[in-house]
Amino acid sequence: QADLAMYQAKADGRSRLCFYGPAMQAELSERAALEADLRRALAQEQFELHYQPQVSSAGGLIGVEALLRWNHPQRGMVSPLSFIPVAEDNGLILDIGRWVLLAACRQLAEWAEVPRLAAMTVSVNVSARQFRHPDFVDEVKSALEFTGAASRLLRLELTESLLLEDVEAVIVRMQALRALGVGFSLDDFGTGYSSLSYLKRLPLTELKIDMSFVRDVLVDPNDAAIARTIIALAHTMGLSVIAEGVESEAQRGFLARSGCDAYQGYLFGRPASAAQLMQFAHNATSVAS
Ligand code: C2E
Ligand code: MG
Ligand code: MG
Ligand code: MG
Repeated sequence: QADLAMYQAKADGRSRLCFYGPAMQAELSERAALEADLRRALAQEQFELHYQPQVSSAGGLIGVEALLRWNHPQRGMVSPLSFIPVAEDNGLILDIGRWVLLAACRQLAEWAEVPRLAAMTVSVNVSARQFRHPDFVDEVKSALEFTGAASRLLRLELTESLLLEDVEAVIVRMQALRALGVGFSLDDFGTGYSSLSYLKRLPLTELKIDMSFVRDVLVDPNDAAIARTIIALAHTMGLSVIAEGVESEAQRGFLARSGCDAYQGYLFGRPASAAQLMQFAHNATSVAS
């Protein structure tokens, strides 16, 4: 009895009672500890951005995706998959997302001075909760102004989860950001629930084929058909299309023959520090020229 607690939760607008035992209590206190750790991470600058190359079908470096890393003093590098969902739940994603945006814009402005990197786009992942926050457009604007980064080189990666509710408000906000010059990529495309009738109304720049379709594209005819369909859909709507999670030359070849415009994945490079990315760009150019 003592270790059974009563927990009142709201679900679907109705109050209901849940009973939970020690296991769930342990999980809740682990979450609380993680939350405290995340606050400290922000204050003590334990976050860093890594950058993964994106290459065109001609093989040139055309952009990078900024991926968040948490350099935890005890646990080492922590994957965003283990803390972003928690940060989304407890609202810390707003502070973390603001940090990411500013760090990415700062890097973008710095690369503007480097000939080989000056035309490269930087894609930044934006969680639905962050995008829906009323201050989001102003925050993007301030980050661009403060750092002097070129808005046309900033690309925001959104997911289809954003389209589950209030699509009209999402479109208005996207248009405001488009007016600033910012581009949009629809991340993990094909895994969500976006309806095609909404899709055509979004001011997108690019569709990003989810890596779950790329993985078996050579052996699973359904994945091959889905990849080809996404490429055709993107082109019909005047969008470019990039494949994520490309690990082999054979996958790249298949996608290239299907008309894919750009690629990202371990075949070209893993997410790496800004310094390593600079080296990558240098080597890539030396090989090409
Ligand atoms: P995502 O945006 O779909 O990013 C792609 C993920 O696939 C990255 O994992 C990347 O390292 C990984 N990846 C890239 N190429 C390959 C490949 O060839 N093979 C395989 N197996 N994996 C590959 P990562 O960095 O662990 O990020 C995971 C997710 O965390 C991201 O998925 C994104 O949803 C989220 N995330 C990362 N950084 C941020 C951020 O700054 N803000 C927000 N809101 N979410 C972020
Ligand atoms: Mg992404
Ligand atoms: Mg993705
Ligand atoms: Mg993904």
